[in-house]
Amino acid sequence: MLWTENRKMGGEPLTFLGRGAAFNPTEGNTAAYIREEDRLLLLDCGETVFERLISREVLTGLKEIHIAISHTHSDHCGSLGSLVFYCFFALEIKAHIVLPADEPDYADSVRLLLKQFGIPDAYYVCEVPSEVTGFRAISSFRFVKTVHDPHLTCFSFELETPEGGVFYSADTCRTDELTAFLESHDQIAAIYMEATEFSAPGNIHLSLDCLRAALPEAAMEKTHLMHLSSKGCMEKAMNIGFMIVDV
Ligand SMILES: [Zn+2]
Ligand SMILES: [Zn+2]
Repeated sequence: MLWTENRKMGGEPLTFLGRGAAFNPTEGNTAAYIREEDRLLLLDCGETVFERLISREVLTGLKEIHIAISHTHSDHCGSLGSLVFYCFFALEIKAHIVLPADEPDYADSVRLLLKQFGIPDAYYVCEVPSEVTGFRAISSFRFVKTVHDPHLTCFSFELETPEGGVFYSADTCRTDELTAFLESHDQIAAIYMEATEFSAPGNIHLSLDCLRAALPEAAMEKTHLMHLSSKGCMEKAMNIGFMIVDV
């Protein structure tokens, strides 16, 4: 189903393959996609993602795939190698790896990761976010640098759609980028955020309380949580009034 059709029926812009945090694999690694006919945009590709793409037949008949990786923790990129190989050999297409134009060190780290997975350069192509085109549901896609693990570069994603902006932050420890998104968008289609039940100094994740404090009521109605660590975390989130993505 197209995103816009899905929205008309009360659905959400993105389709999720998982909503778990790194140590919660039963919920699947957090990842989402938009598919329009034979074209796919995938946001993150953690350890459980390739299996779910196959079992849900998301890859069937694909002629074009764009993959954006938020950061190189393995719950966000652990099955990227298998997916790129599958694209090349089974689908006979080269995956498009979307890399931020102004972050050469990050781009190099993703290319190195693919090399370590044993993937020759010739099996995929790199592109910048402005080359993610041809989707009726997306007029623009961009990486927004955030803070998560101090040892890694990490990004949130922003998408512009006919229904307004979409903000997606699978791993972050702060709300600065979310606040900037809220301030720069009169129309918001959806906000997808990670959150954890823990709030301790030095936490590399965002606490539920901190996220709630950053959201005005109108934005709360558009906000869905993902990357959740446990059933207890999900219950606490719902008690606060958060919605949780369906998988
Ligand atoms: Zn993660
Ligand atoms: Zn992470």
